[in-house]
Amino acid sequence: MNIAKVIVDVPSSAINQTFDYSIPKRFQEVIKPGMRVIVPFGPRKIMGFVVERVSESSFDKLKDIVDVLDITPVLTKELLDLGKWVANNTLSLSITALQAMLPQVLKSKYRKQLIRETDEVLTPELEHLFAGRGFIDYEEFEHANISYYQLQKAIQEGDISIEYLVESKITKKQIVMVKPSKEPYLLEEAIMDIPKNANKQKQVISYFLEYPKAVSQKELINKVKTTSSTIKNLVDKGILETYKQEIFRNPYNDDAIKRTTPLPLTEEQQNAIEPIQASINEHQHEVFLLHGVTGSGKTEVYLQAIQNVISKGKEAIVLVPEISLTPQMVERFKGRFGKNVAVMHSALSAGEKYDEWRRIHRKEVQVVVGARSAIFAPFENLGIIIIDEEHETTYKQEDQPRYHARDVAIERGKYHQCPVVLGSATPTLESYARASKGVYQLATLSKRTNDQPMPRVDIIDMRKELHAGNRTMFSRKLMQKMEQCIQKGEQVVLLLNRRGYSTFVMCRDCGHVMECPHCDIALTYHKNSNRLKCHYCSYETNLPASCPECTSDSIRYFGTGTQRVEEALGKLLPEARILRMDVDTTRRKGSHEKLLKQFGDRKADILLGTQMIAKGLDFENVTLVGVLTADSMLHLPDFRSSERTFQLLTQVSGRAGRHELTGEVLVQTYTPDHYSIELASVYNFHDFYKKEMSMRRKFKYPPYFYLVLITVSHENNVLAVQRTQTIVQMLMKSVKRNTVVLGPTPSPIPRIKDRYRYQCMIKYKNEPNLRPLLNKIMEYFSDDVRKNNLLITVDLEPYHFM
Ligand code: ADP
Ligand code: ZN
Ligand code: ZN
Repeated sequence: MNIAKVIVDVPSSAINQTFDYSIPKRFQEVIKPGMRVIVPFGPRKIMGFVVERVSESSFDKLKDIVDVLDITPVLTKELLDLGKWVANNTLSLSITALQAMLPQVLKSKYRKQLIRETDEVLTPELEHLFAGRGFIDYEEFEHANISYYQLQKAIQEGDISIEYLVESKITKKQIVMVKPSKEPYLLEEAIMDIPKNANKQKQVISYFLEYPKAVSQKELINKVKTTSSTIKNLVDKGILETYKQEIFRNPYNDDAIKRTTPLPLTEEQQNAIEPIQASINEHQHEVFLLHGVTGSGKTEVYLQAIQNVISKGKEAIVLVPEISLTPQMVERFKGRFGKNVAVMHSALSAGEKYDEWRRIHRKEVQVVVGARSAIFAPFENLGIIIIDEEHETTYKQEDQPRYHARDVAIERGKYHQCPVVLGSATPTLESYARASKGVYQLATLSKRTNDQPMPRVDIIDMRKELHAGNRTMFSRKLMQKMEQCIQKGEQVVLLLNRRGYSTFVMCRDCGHVMECPHCDIALTYHKNSNRLKCHYCSYETNLPASCPECTSDSIRYFGTGTQRVEEALGKLLPEARILRMDVDTTRRKGSHEKLLKQFGDRKADILLGTQMIAKGLDFENVTLVGVLTADSMLHLPDFRSSERTFQLLTQVSGRAGRHELTGEVLVQTYTPDHYSIELASVYNFHDFYKKEMSMRRKFKYPPYFYLVLITVSHENNVLAVQRTQTIVQMLMKSVKRNTVVLGPTPSPIPRIKDRYRYQCMIKYKNEPNLRPLLNKIMEYFSDDVRKNNLLITVDLEPYHFM
């Protein structure tokens, strides 16, 4: 077995395969699948992943592996296979899929160090190498003639650890530890020798008589109420000793988090959790859809299921959308499971993320709470995977590998034979349809745990405001309610739906929106050509001078930014304290949390923001939620726009009246009778589901049809269209009769960075050979891609169409 199959770090489709390398003698006991190695590749030396060890190769002359980057594998067998699966399913390169599973630190340039973790004697060679030092550069080890096997053993036994330093920026954090330097019976003697008046010193020694272990100086000072000079005194006497220890960064102050205990479950929660527990206990994979209104106690269900998993010695992954991964959210998990929780969040520094990953890798935690990529946590004994807010589109990665965390979760759930729980107040149509068919098991939480009713939602027809002469973006009712609310010392959340800004065209008199006659989707206004275009088919038309519905000439394209709203609000309510939360004010690390904390501390009356304020916030003093333009998302060129509008309105309504105070929601819109707005205002998911499903069926969209979006771009407009045209033709020749191939159509953003972009969309029900066909098409254009700078992206099950 002295040949390694290696996936090399060359991002090119021509190289998307394993290469055989021979394993030189010195690495033979070391190399395992899942380790990263350095191999010669052409004139260069590059990184690669060992995926397998074999004894034979069909090639005669193999090159040697030149170096080993890991001492223990960074990827498990399961993850290596999963990488293959991800690559296959997203039509991406194996190397890209494998890289996606690792923390950034392991991908960038770094320096390695070996850290001595023990005072026990190492092997003579290693002792010689360390020469009394606490850590050494890895290079020294490479130059010393010591076997890797020895080092690997020392690492496995915990005597030595390996540390990666990224561009020397990541510094290890060290703390001072204190421990007794004498045996306990000698400590007792030492107490006798301490002068009578040195009571503090005596207390410190007594402490160690009771707890004869090393303790951090800080903790010791806290516990014994002593000072560092007392400790120093004892060190000088030779009774105690201090040393420095590296600690893992923990961005959360675990000790400050109040511990919680399981709550007695409500009947609904009990019914929901039982089949999940059964799936855990019986070691049976099953997908559950937990459909629970906001505030119905879904998280408590997750927590108690995880508790069961932990008690079985297994592990849990909890995925939470990036923007909901607030300290509040993290605390709920740390409050229950304490230090047993790792957090993977993009706001952490690369070093912090790496530390959290290592805690998982070393099996120091059993729970990870994280955003999308945490689905690849290197656990080996998974007992449950939970995806909260399963409808969030951020679970789909937007660049290669374009995986959906839900699909990966189910794949891992099958491997580990454990349940996957998808939770949401507004499940996706895809998931709900599967639950209706019995593919997923449905559990419903229909009531809030505090038995508070859902806040009342009022729809405000902004057309009437206009007719009444109100040209501001705030209806009279919203203004009045905001004033009242602030007067009472209560708080307001104001949502501005900024996505889809200035793209759709609407009549301000009658609310008519220009839509495509073939797709029932809003047309996009193209300012340059002054034309309206459909991005699903090729339909386009001129911008009409007057409304085709009511002949009013108040027809125009729409858009408002948060900044403008803030200014306007400041003029109308000069005494109100406003906090603005959008991409601009939350760019800096930690600013998101800071703004939320300010609002929680009631340092502001109004929290104004985009989508990011709709999720997961829980402030007891919020009694009014206002949505400024409910329809702005409705008219995006995206077949999911109604679904997203429904989801967003439901989510944001859930922010009001979560505690004693009752809440109220005002939704401003120009299309008050659109079903997504009407049904969201009465929390009627069921009717929305039925209505939207009928639309999806009619227009051949998911979940009735699968979608593939192919985007082709090139600097030359004509070439881009022609290549897209060729793709369309190739597809047409091979697909089934009920498969729809649309295009070439210009992308909604037709030119980015001087590249012209065209799309082709495939809608299909069953095409078993689609993946090979798409691969063949990619292959066909590989010369154009390599030499001619053509770019083709294939997005299976796309969520973004821009
Ligand atoms: P969701 O995640 O469904 O929006 P949460 O989990 O945030 O709902 O629960 C809403 C509130 O109800 C939280 O304050 C939570 O502590 C509380 N809660 C959950 N389950 C129970 C229960 N069984 N008994 C009492 N309170 C509960
Ligand atoms: Zn009109
Ligand atoms: Zn169309």
